[in-house]
Amino acid sequence: MSQVVFIVLLVITIGIFAYSAFKIYQLFKLTKPAYPVRDFGKRINRTIVNAFFQQRIFRNPVAGFMHAMVFWGFLLILVGSIEMVIDGIAGTERVLASLGLVYNIVIGGGDLFAYIIALFIIVFIVRRTLLNVNRLHGKEMQKRNHIDALLALTMILLLMISLAGMNIFYIAGHSDYQGVYPISALIAPLFVNMQADTIKLIHDISWWSHIILIFIFANALPYSKHFHIFMSIPNVFFSRLTPLGKMTNMDSITKEVKLMMNPETAFAAAPEGDAPPARFGILDIEDVTWKNYIDSLACTQCGRCTAVCPANITGKELSPRKMVMNIRQRMKMKGPHLVKEGNDYSDGFSLIRKLIKEEEIWACTTCNACAKECPLNIDHPTFILDLRRYLVMEESAAPAQLNAIFANIENNGAPWQYSNEDRLNWTE
Ligand code: SF4
Ligand code: SF4
Repeated sequence: MSQVVFIVLLVITIGIFAYSAFKIYQLFKLTKPAYPVRDFGKRINRTIVNAFFQQRIFRNPVAGFMHAMVFWGFLLILVGSIEMVIDGIAGTERVLASLGLVYNIVIGGGDLFAYIIALFIIVFIVRRTLLNVNRLHGKEMQKRNHIDALLALTMILLLMISLAGMNIFYIAGHSDYQGVYPISALIAPLFVNMQADTIKLIHDISWWSHIILIFIFANALPYSKHFHIFMSIPNVFFSRLTPLGKMTNMDSITKEVKLMMNPETAFAAAPEGDAPPARFGILDIEDVTWKNYIDSLACTQCGRCTAVCPANITGKELSPRKMVMNIRQRMKMKGPHLVKEGNDYSDGFSLIRKLIKEEEIWACTTCNACAKECPLNIDHPTFILDLRRYLVMEESAAPAQLNAIFANIENNGAPWQYSNEDRLNWTE
């Protein structure tokens, strides 16, 4: 009977998850190309260093250490959860114990990390609720963002408590238990004198609570900021390899410039059917690239980017974290309608102005501090430059000082308001 219940729950979980994944896939289909994904060796290397070894996280040694321990512990516990799924389907108990040493390492590590993670999660909850850590706040961090974070942290805490309970009462109920449990084995003797039925009942409740929490958690993640648990590793893998700050030229504009400078060679080199893009830069969500969107899904809202942003620090409107959060927010607002009604759908708003003010866009110094600090290699400046590209190229809506410079470049070939012929006047 319990096997049937388990299989039904598993099928429902996979079904709901597949539905959410399909919805996200549909939203990805709305996005524009970013760059070709090549150099797999470099990408794997970067993923190992930045994602698995959590390199950037350690810039803040205390919080970084705790976060890294939670991440590594999660990976080990995940392997242990595979055994639970097999046990649930087959009606076995600790089916992978025959793996011997490997099993002992994985299960022993999982047991140790369950307590470490529980402790650090309590610290994270206290930090978020009682301590006034600047980077966890900000105008973009609404009440719902804090509730989302606290719910996910509470769920992880419950996962760890149920895992510990499962291990403790498994040991208490078996004199010949399988595996190694460095912490639970120390606690279990406190309960060995309980009635066997009670021990089994508490073990079973812990087992079922743990697996059901995993099923709920997996399906809640796509709608939470904790979706980074799934998206952070792919985001690091797909992050740009070109130096930060290097602007991507638009082929159609490069061609125009070449035509102006040398019409004959440029005509000869111009690729066939090289039409200008439907829109220059980014106005709304249908203009963002798949990389912009995956960035927004991977963002942990940790605020490390905003904490180092010189514009934000000096009191400007700009917060790079908010920019990234706005992409996900706008996609959630408009994406499903675009999927349903096609690209002509309009709700009368756009990402620029509805969620991101021009003032924010122009406050950026393009220093790249945010992108260098982000533990998930999110590339904010490229996105901000594309917003500017739209304002300048489609609306000529640059600030007045810039418009004067543009006019000078157009007329004089230089940013100053003097004619070309007068360039050497200063020598006299
Ligand atoms: S690149 Fe722009 S958004 Fe990023 S830290 Fe510098 S000023 Fe802030
Ligand atoms: S963009 Fe990166 S640094 Fe900024 S809040 Fe998101 S994950 Fe943190």
